[in-house]
Order: sequence, then structure tokens, then C-alpha cells
Amino acid sequence: MSLIDKALAANSNYAKNYYPALGKRPAPKIAVVTCMDPRLSDLPGILGLPNSDLDVIRTGGPAVTEDVLAEIIISNRVLGTTEILLLNHTGCGFTTFTDDELNSKLSASTGDASPAPMRFFSYKDPEENTREQIKKVRPHPWIAKDILVRGFIFDVDTGRLREVEVLEHGRAA
Ligand SMILES: [Zn+2]
Repeated sequence: MSLIDKALAANSNYAKNYYPALGKRPAPKIAVVTCMDPRLSDLPGILGLPNSDLDVIRTGGPAVTEDVLAEIIISNRVLGTTEILLLNHTGCGFTTFTDDELNSKLSASTGDASPAPMRFFSYKDPEENTREQIKKVRPHPWIAKDILVRGFIFDVDTGRLREVEVLEHGRAA
């Protein structure tokens, strides 16, 4: 039995106790951009905020792509979130390869190079990655100036968050 089949069986039980009120229009308060890594999945635990407050945007890395920027803008402008938390982490799988390496490996192992080069958004340093994200998000003309934008690294060994700031002219911007 696949996990999807197991999940379908579990869902019929879930639906028996489901509160229809949960299906009303969501009103999250904070956009969280984080990695697809399962260690980042317990955001209510990590952040002490209920699921209903969190608008979670997940990609590998996380990579703040044009698509992710669009989702952040929807989160602010359509859903009404007023803070943006960019959540990176230690031990990210995306630091263990380069895009070139993975393109070569997949082309060789599948015998088909036609999808290459794919953008996997690999990176080396979570701190630098966080700074780059802040630099992309903060100045965006459709992200209002009064929206908070802050970047953090979650330490997968300790469970602690550490803030990353963008230094400009020797001071935190
Ligand atoms: Zn990751």
C-alpha cells in the first residue's frame, strides 16, 4: 500500500470530525518563506504561532524566485499578511551540490540530457542566501515599506533561530 493510499484511508476518518468553519476564507498574519526540508515543517512549534496565522511559501533552499516573489505579494496584498519571515536553515541539502553537478549527474543517470540545464537554486552559505533574499524582497516596489521583512537561520541541531541582517554602510539596514 502506498503512502498516498494510506493517506486517503486516513482522510475519510479526518473528514468525519472536520469543522466546516475551518473552510472559511483564511486570514493569515505572516508570510513565512522556508525550505521544503521536513525539519522545517513544524512551524507552529518552531515559531509558537498557530497554523491559521501562517501563510507558508515553500521552495528548496528556500529559493526566492520570481514565482515566490509573486506569492509573497499575493500574501501581503490579497490575503493581508503584514510581516515576511525568510527562514533558512543549517544542513540544507541544497548546499551539497551545485546546479552544474546535479545537471550532469541526472543527465548521466537517466541517459537523457534534454531537461538540462535545470535551475535547482543550489547555494553554499545560508547566511549569504538569507542576505540575498532580504535584498530581493525588501526593495520590491509592490511590497509596502511598512511590511516587516526579517531573515533567520534555523539551527537543525539546537532548534534555535538566529537573525541575519543586511549590513549597509557598516550598520544594519
Ligand atoms: Zn533546505
